[in-house]
Amino acid sequence: MIDLRSDTQTRPTPGMRAAMAAAEVGDEQLREDPTVNELQRRAAELLGQEEALFLPTATMANQIALFCLGERGGELIAEERTHALVYEAGGPAVHAGLVVRGLRGDRGRISPDDLRRAAAGADAYQPASVVVLEQTHRSSGGRVWPLAELEATVACARELGLAVHLDGARLLNAQVASGVPAAAYGRLADTVTLCFSKGLGCPLGAVLAGSREIMARAWRCKLLFGGAMRQAGIVAAAALYALDHHVERLREDHARARLLAEGWARAGLPVDPDAVETNFVGIELAPLGLGEEEAKARIAAQGVLVSVLRPGVLRAATYLGITDEDVERAVEAVPRALAAFLART
Ligand SMILES: *Cc1c(COP(=O)(O)O)cnc(C)c1O
Repeated sequence: MIDLRSDTQTRPTPGMRAAMAAAEVGDEQLREDPTVNELQRRAAELLGQEEALFLPTATMANQIALFCLGERGGELIAEERTHALVYEAGGPAVHAGLVVRGLRGDRGRISPDDLRRAAAGADAYQPASVVVLEQTHRSSGGRVWPLAELEATVACARELGLAVHLDGARLLNAQVASGVPAAAYGRLADTVTLCFSKGLGCPLGAVLAGSREIMARAWRCKLLFGGAMRQAGIVAAAALYALDHHVERLREDHARARLLAEGWARAGLPVDPDAVETNFVGIELAPLGLGEEEAKARIAAQGVLVSVLRPGVLRAATYLGITDEDVERAVEAVPRALAAFLART
């Protein structure tokens, strides 16, 4: 099977496992784990913020950020398919007491006008409170917010008195794709999440970065949410290894995603190679007249696993472990799986 469901399918490499085995550790809850401390220092710098906090997952990082930034009973504004809105089990409502207002965006982006309209719809009793922006934006296919557009939307949020969280789970994919350093995006927000268990290839781990003052509150939340750990340097060592060895190689994932998209488009699949900016390829199902489950099953029968990007669109993701040969085989196999439906496009 060629598993293109998600970049979470990475396995720790031998080099990463060796780094984990050799990690110097201590009690993280006492802030005595030197490897965690080193990771937090490097992550803060990488994300353009004063401090960073190591956490088990990016979901927890997002939820702690919203807990720290949001006002209970206030509104969380975000593009409607933002991860924190649709894949975090209602966390913004459950943990932070936020009312979610999802906006229709363009490639995952919301404009200053979108924000102004949304904020005008709130009132003093249910005030607009916090905005979440996602870079890269998962559900639009790993699209990259251009820096100037992100700056304009953040500036508007500031004008409106809203806090800003940047879900940069795949921020390093954006860095590699755009050539803009992660810190240039990260410094715009109050808090920034980075995930290590996606394209970076770690078994788990994420960081939340922000100002010293917000991170002091976030530290308390780390205990509150059950995310304070012990000899977590074992895992932080994997993240440090990834920062040293797995960032530039994201370029290879992006190139392979592009090859997949071009191959599938040539074979007549409803795929837009120009929409592939990072490591996801979207396959539109409406032109094929196929449902998600049937399409996935037909593709699986030809030896390739894919997942759902958003309703009506399948996702193929490239990552560490997907080779050129896998790409060549998938370029053949997926059109073969859908051949009977291609005539309709
Ligand atoms: C995967 C993902 C998360 C959550 O990461 P976990 O470490 O799996 O909790 C958050 N935001 C985005 C955009 C993601 O893709």
